Amino acid sequence: MAKIGINIATGSLQQQEMIVGIDLGTTNSLVAIIHPESRQAVALREHQSSSLVPSIVHFGPGNEATVGEEAKKFLVTEPQQTIFSVKRLMGKSYNDLRNSQSFFTYKIIDDESDRLVKVQVGDRFYSPIELSSLILSELKHRAEHILKTPVTKAVITVPAYFNDAQRQATRDAGKLAGLDVLRIINEPTAASLAYGLGLKKDEQKTIAVYDLGGGTFDISILRIVNGIFEVLSTNGDTYLGGDDIDQAIVSTWLQELQLPAAFVQQNKALAQEFRIRAEEAKVWLSSSLQYAGRVGDYAVSLGRDDFDRLIAPLVERTLTCCRNALKDASMAASQVEEVVMVGGSTRIPLIKERVGAFFGKKVHDELNPDEVVALGAAIQADILAGNNKDFLLLDITPLSLGIETMGGLMDVLIARNSKIPAKVSRQYTTQKDGQSGMRISVYQGERDLVRDNRKLAEFNLTGIPGMPAGIPKVELSFLINADGILVVKAVELRSGVAQSIEVKPQYGLTDEEVEKMLLDSITHASEDIRLRALVEAKTEAGQILDTTDRFITRNAAHLSQEETDATHRAMQELRAVLDSNDKDLIHQRIEQLNEISKPYAERLMDEAVAKKLKGGKV
Ligand code: AMP
Repeated sequence: MAKIGINIATGSLQQQEMIVGIDLGTTNSLVAIIHPESRQAVALREHQSSSLVPSIVHFGPGNEATVGEEAKKFLVTEPQQTIFSVKRLMGKSYNDLRNSQSFFTYKIIDDESDRLVKVQVGDRFYSPIELSSLILSELKHRAEHILKTPVTKAVITVPAYFNDAQRQATRDAGKLAGLDVLRIINEPTAASLAYGLGLKKDEQKTIAVYDLGGGTFDISILRIVNGIFEVLSTNGDTYLGGDDIDQAIVSTWLQELQLPAAFVQQNKALAQEFRIRAEEAKVWLSSSLQYAGRVGDYAVSLGRDDFDRLIAPLVERTLTCCRNALKDASMAASQVEEVVMVGGSTRIPLIKERVGAFFGKKVHDELNPDEVVALGAAIQADILAGNNKDFLLLDITPLSLGIETMGGLMDVLIARNSKIPAKVSRQYTTQKDGQSGMRISVYQGERDLVRDNRKLAEFNLTGIPGMPAGIPKVELSFLINADGILVVKAVELRSGVAQSIEVKPQYGLTDEEVEKMLLDSITHASEDIRLRALVEAKTEAGQILDTTDRFITRNAAHLSQEETDATHRAMQELRAVLDSNDKDLIHQRIEQLNEISKPYAERLMDEAVAKKLKGGKV
């Protein structure tokens, strides 16, 4: 098994090329490299400006996208066109986000289903993958501008708690941005690497990574054994960070000035200025004891002691998460040997002090906490490039392995460049009532449609007992052992029927073929992602047409003639565009059908509940 990368500019296989490390953050993103001369990890920046690029995308009147500081300017004035916190949407369904809808100021399509979310801007629909790819494209262009060389390969970081779907979404975003994503690594692992932890052979250590950013808090407990990082536990709060501190300062000032919160909320510009001054005060107090400033005609001030008192409850909340993480890892705070600080908010002296006291040791804060994750990603990239001779490269899978799903799409179970041995399991279900068999087709490759990948094997799982569609639970597992042999096993969990097969994915595959497959996946990335989105839209439309049809037939007696007619019309209109190859149009028609069916579906649900309650009382 070999590590293979391609240079998109030349199409050739290269082992020594510079690979960048990318921290794709919720609030900010950045790129780092290993400096070819100093061999030190450095964050890329244009002249004296910041290395951080706000992870914000703004769409102009003609749907043209801008990213970064330029886009940030529109956050308050054009909230519907300005997309922030895309990372929170990666791999999420509408149901996952139901409780946090109010956080987003832009339109997230909500049809209360388990499908992956889309963001609607005007009459266009964007997947989180497309939005993230716009941020990654911007980072790629910046890096190319600064380095004066094409940048085609990257290591991208993700939170340790990201699941398979979220990691795959991040990979796809990279691919769509024209990047060959050599590996996805965990943010806490990257931060540890930046401090040189895990780089020595025979090293065994337990590390806590405390990451407090603008909007999120994560604590991870890691164990390194001989260069391999294992995540023992993670904990945190997805809505806790520097923004809450700014908010707390604003509230204190408003109280002192006896200004009602409602008055400020109505005046958006004033509210914004209060928030900006509050952040300024917070940053100032990390290195001074007293802050004084002005917001319009109002004088505002804050001392370090008052600030510390103000944020103490918030710091305590993060320590509670730390306690929970330690408990899950079955570990005492004193067993943690190194504590790594990540995220801009860890510059606050009280936080360093409390976290240090909690773990009973001095925390690592020598590196820039905003850059440490990207720096670690660059170190990992350098190891993958084979430049770091001290580091042993582990065996990896050169191409992704997966199966064919609805509409001929490739569903990757083991991503390329995964360390072997590796094991991944995922659950699937049936599409038809009473379906007794399921065909499992195993493919290898990086393209979105299986027809463009290499077919390795196929088998049928038979004997599934008759059940309605969606009820059987078929667990599919891919196990690739140290010899590179892939064992694919399918088990229907309710009945226990099982079937398995063994293949050697590398058999008869030359390095040149692998190289060509990788190159093809990059050159066809945007076409592939467009096709995937279209196939998904068509599949979704088909399912919605089916369920709606069944629903109105079953409930015909409870629907008015107008409701039935309007539904049939909307269904007809949706059917009419199924072959249009325009996914936005299909989504619009799905939305239209949902708008019509939602009111009566809810009404019937309420009636059913009311009936049940009444029945219960008698
Ligand atoms: P991140 O999401 O890691 O980029 O962290 C950004 C957060 O760090 C924002 O809430 C910033 O206001 C905060 N921050 C940056 N510098 C400082 C500082 N010197 N003191 C306190 N907070 C800071």
